[in-house]
Order: sequence, then structure tokens, then C-alpha cells
Amino acid sequence: MNKQIVIIGAGPAGLIFSLLSSTSNNSISLVESRQAFERKNDKRALALSASSRYILEKIDIWNNIEDKIIPIKSIHTSQKGTFGRSKLRADEFNTEALGYIIAYGDLIAALEEKVRIQNKIKLFYEAKVEKIDDITDDKQKIICHQANKLLTLDCNLLVLADGGHSRIDGLNIAKEEKVINHLAIVTQVHSDKPHKNIAFERFTSSGPIALLPNHKGAYSLVWTGPKDKINNLVALDKKIFLKALQEEFGERAGQFKSCEKRISFSLVQSSIVTIHNKNVVAIGNAAQIMHPVAGQGLNTGLRDALSLSDLIISNEAIQSSDELIKSYLESRRVETESMLKITEGLTTLFTNDFIGINRLRGLALAILDCTPILKKKFVQKMSYGK
Ligand SMILES: Cc1cc2nc3c(=O)[nH]c(=O)nc-3n(C[C@H](O)[C@H](O)[C@H](O)COP(=O)(O)OP(=O)(O)OC[C@H]3O[C@@H](n4cnc5c(N)ncnc54)[C@H](O)[C@@H]3O)c2cc1C
Repeated sequence: MNKQIVIIGAGPAGLIFSLLSSTSNNSISLVESRQAFERKNDKRALALSASSRYILEKIDIWNNIEDKIIPIKSIHTSQKGTFGRSKLRADEFNTEALGYIIAYGDLIAALEEKVRIQNKIKLFYEAKVEKIDDITDDKQKIICHQANKLLTLDCNLLVLADGGHSRIDGLNIAKEEKVINHLAIVTQVHSDKPHKNIAFERFTSSGPIALLPNHKGAYSLVWTGPKDKINNLVALDKKIFLKALQEEFGERAGQFKSCEKRISFSLVQSSIVTIHNKNVVAIGNAAQIMHPVAGQGLNTGLRDALSLSDLIISNEAIQSSDELIKSYLESRRVETESMLKITEGLTTLFTNDFIGINRLRGLALAILDCTPILKKKFVQKMSYGK
């Protein structure tokens, strides 16, 4: 049975899912509320894993974005105040890179261009989905606002790829949310040392700091910590901010000389427990939001998109949407739960200040550094989710 699929949200998860599914005979509509300009100018640095590269190659996008990508050749993890540290190098694992950095906006621009050229997906831009209504058990009506006009779309499979923040009347979703009460600052930082494709992760008692190699020798900084601390850091004069960063980060990445505009995001960890509506499924951040500590949010979301599209394509003739959704949820359960546990574990373990814990964490990093099998398992999990 051919499906009428409506996807809410043209972020990376929604766009990639639409492209992966477009080889089927289903009708696909994609609805996005924000303006293209805003999304294409989002400079957030995403760390793509090997599995995300595979997915982008599958939809024939990788070649188009290669010049926008910075490969990560090594990852340096350390902890403020102890000697333990771990260094992972791509050549130890016979791989070209441990990950790839791309700006959110560059990825969106390439994906949208592909959707446009392909001409198989119906696009509804600057249209906000506000309500869903059940017409029958097998059919839903999606009600959107587009430039002061009402737009309605019928579907028998609704894919939520809205990032998990929108309010849509008629949706009945039970979520498990953990309040972290932390924020993340993101900005570009320039230092006096070339980055040489090294990514740094530094754990401090108030939260992790990541420096990701970026274009023109700059680093993308993601500094997470308690709300008050991060709000103060955003308000600081640039020079004092760089001094504070230097103090927390140390000298490994050289002397920080300048930074660009600082933007802060609030951090949540949440995952869907049940969607009570029929024929509705969620992928990407709409399904689970993770702390950015391990850079796994997007990568997990893209594997969601791949699993769902694979099931749609391989079961085109037989399955009802409900059967399909059941198989999909079963296929994603173990990986999603383990990724949520890993990211949560990393943030709580490394931000705990009990006496003695600091030294144990240093020891853990030192053990990881000199145990090849542990390193291999860790890289495998971060690259492929398995
Ligand atoms: C500070 C920070 C750093 C991060 N760093 C990394 C990293 O290094 N690596 C990594 O893998 N991940 C990272 N992430 C996570 C990553 O940004 C997300 O996982 C990713 O953007 C999720 O993609 P998505 O397509 O699911 O959702 P989104 O990118 O949020 O896209 C959702 C889309 O849906 C649209 N939408 C919402 N509601 C509606 C509606 N009602 N109607 C129509 N359209 C709607 C929105 O406008 C948006 O375009 C980071 C996140 C943060 C906050």
C-alpha cells in the first residue's frame, strides 16, 4: 500500500529521512516553519560520525559537502586538575578520520539543494504545523499556517522531525525529561596555534568544554555548565571571557586570542516514552534530545532516519503504519537507550566533586589511553552507535 507521508521539520533528520525515503512509491510532503535564510546561517558545529558519513553517501550528498567539512584526526580528552588524559588517533584505527565537523547551515543548504533537484518531495516552507486531527483510524489531517493562510494535508504516516520543541494541538505524547539546568555557549575561538585537526574535550567540575577544529584554523567552542555560570560567561567582556576559558582549558590548544559572538542554548535530556496517536512516529531530536558532551545527538537522529526509511522501503507492500512503527521502535530501542545512558553518565561522572573521584577519573582516562581494546570499543560505539 502506498503511503501518504507528511514530515514535520526540515532540519537534518527530516531532510535526510525525506531523501532516503524518496526511492519508494510513497507520496512525501515536508513542512518547515523557519525561513531558509535563518536555517542556512546557523553556524552550530555538528560532529558527524562514520555512520552519518555512510548515510550522506547513500543519498549522494557527501561529495557536495566535502569542501565544507573538517576531518577530526585525533581527539584529546583531559580533566582539569589531574594528569590522566586519553588521546585517540584516526591512524590507530585505520580510518581516515574520527569524525567530521560541518556547520549546521552548510549541511542544511546541501540537503535542500538535493531535495530541490530531485523534485519528488512536496515542500511547504514557512508553514507551521499547529494541529493534527484524526479523520479515521488510518488517516490524519495536518493543519498548518502558511503566510496567514490555512493549509491542510492528509496523511497515513506522520513523521515528527520537529526537534522536539514545537506545540502541536492534537498530539498526545508522553516524554521522560531530565532537567539538567545547564546551558551551552557556542562560539568560534581563535588561538595562536594551528589546530592540526585535533578535537579537544576537557572535563571540569562545572561541565565539559569541547573545542572542535574548524575552518581558517578556528575552533568551534561548546562550553557547558550551570545556568548562572554560563549566563555570566556570555555577559563578560570578550577579553575577560577568553581569560576565563584559558584558565579552565589550559594551554593545550595554545593562547586564545579572539572569539566571535557567543550564543547560549539550554540543555535538556528527554526521550519519548509513548506516542498515543495512531500513525505518528518521531525521529531525531523529536524522539530524543541528548547532552552535546559526546556529540551524538545528530548522529543518533540520522540513524533513526535510516532505520525508518529502510523499513518503509523493504515493507512497502504489506505493512500498516502501526505495524511499521512497532518494528521501527523495536529496532531503535537498545541503541537509543544506551546512547542516552552514556551521555548522561559522562555528564554526571565528570561533574561530580566527591573527594577522591577526581583522581579516579584521571585514572580512568589514563587506563583508556593505554588499553587498545577499550579504545577500539569506545570508537566503535561513537562511530556507529554499536
Ligand atoms: C549547543 C549544541 C551543540 C550541539 N553539538 C552537536 C554535535 O557536535 N554533534 C551532534 O551530532 N549533535 C550536536 N547537537 C545536537 C544537534 O544540533 C541536534 O541533534 C540536531 O540539530 C537535531 O536535528 P533534527 O533535524 O532532529 O532537529 P532540528 O535541527 O531541531 O530541526 C527541527 C526543524 O523542525 C522545524 N519545526 C519545528 N516545529 C515545527 C512545526 N510545528 N512546523 C513546521 N516545522 C517545525 C524547525 O524550524 C527546525 O528546522 C548540538 C546541540 C546543541 C544545542
